[in-house]
Amino acid sequence: MSEEKEKAEAIPEDERTTALDRRSFLRKAGVAGVAAAAASTVSAPVIWAQGKSYQWKMVTTWPPEMPVLQTGAQRFAKRVEELSQGRMKIQVYAGGELVPPLGTFDAVSQGTVECGSGASYYWAGKCPAGQWFSAVPFGFNPQGINTWFYSGGGLQLWEEAYAPFNVVPRPQGNTGVQMGGWFRKKIESVDDFKGLKMRIPGLGGKVIAKAGGTVVLLAGGEIYTSLERGVIDATEWVGPLHDLRMGFYQATKYYYYPGWHEPGTTLEVIFNKKAYDELPADLKALLDTVAAETNLWSLCEFESQNGEALETLVTKHGVELLRFPDSVLNDFRKLSEEVLAEEAAKDPMCKKVHEAFLAFRAKLGKWGTVSEKAYYDTIAERIAEKKSS
Ligand code: CA
Repeated sequence: MSEEKEKAEAIPEDERTTALDRRSFLRKAGVAGVAAAAASTVSAPVIWAQGKSYQWKMVTTWPPEMPVLQTGAQRFAKRVEELSQGRMKIQVYAGGELVPPLGTFDAVSQGTVECGSGASYYWAGKCPAGQWFSAVPFGFNPQGINTWFYSGGGLQLWEEAYAPFNVVPRPQGNTGVQMGGWFRKKIESVDDFKGLKMRIPGLGGKVIAKAGGTVVLLAGGEIYTSLERGVIDATEWVGPLHDLRMGFYQATKYYYYPGWHEPGTTLEVIFNKKAYDELPADLKALLDTVAAETNLWSLCEFESQNGEALETLVTKHGVELLRFPDSVLNDFRKLSEEVLAEEAAKDPMCKKVHEAFLAFRAKLGKWGTVSEKAYYDTIAERIAEKKSS
């Protein structure tokens, strides 16, 4: 029996692989590595027992310190570091700090950085099938889309859509139902969208284009100035919490609801596939778990803070809260069906995702009619009774 093997067998079995891996790693690492490892062995024996550590970079599409979006990405990194006991550290860069905001997907795909945070509709030009996983006009609400991801095969399809780009997606947040947007003039009918320049991403943007509008894709940090200077006539962003912070009420007072185009938008964390695949199984599971945890946390933050922010916009800043006329919503609904059919015809993956989306929506709808819908109808009846009494 070799000396090394004898020593290995003196180590408890669950620690043995790590110890042997460590020795083989030290041999490969050379003299400098051995010296560094020896120093860390003395000062931090716990880390020695846990094996290799990882330093990653994350780039995002979000403006610095943007609540829930950028702070959610930072929270993700912090949780990963805490729960891995320091084995994995992720340095987070806001949009533009390391790469342009909308360069996030490319940076992760090419391995310039190991991970990123954004939303899949930002990359529609590269991966049109990805759009279904962020937001579909008149599509899933947060409960519906999360059900699709975690229990309906949606996440596997999303992985398949991103695989050609060497990118692994995970849901990392959900905005809840968004607001319809800020308009410099009032909206009376769908004709008011003819010639209107609006910042609106994703499939919703394609509906606006079909209605005769001009769609502009701008990252968060560029929107306010464009609206204020009249470069665009309208914009949507997220909901009251974020729109208040962006200061849109200083450029216009007309604030429309509901966010028909984004009824429960998923935010994503994306990993470079090679970097992700090289991780040990426990760290992969840790990333997946923290992503799911952040997904839930994010939705709860939006839901808990939006109502108060809306109150501030209306009472303190004199914002006029307006519902889109029924005729506009009905027209958008019809146009959305056309847009979805056209997008689905773009490539086989779009077709596959769209068909899966339709099938799952029908399945959820059947149950939802006797659960969610029946419940909300009951509440609505109660509210109506209260008003009339
Ligand atoms: Ca939005």
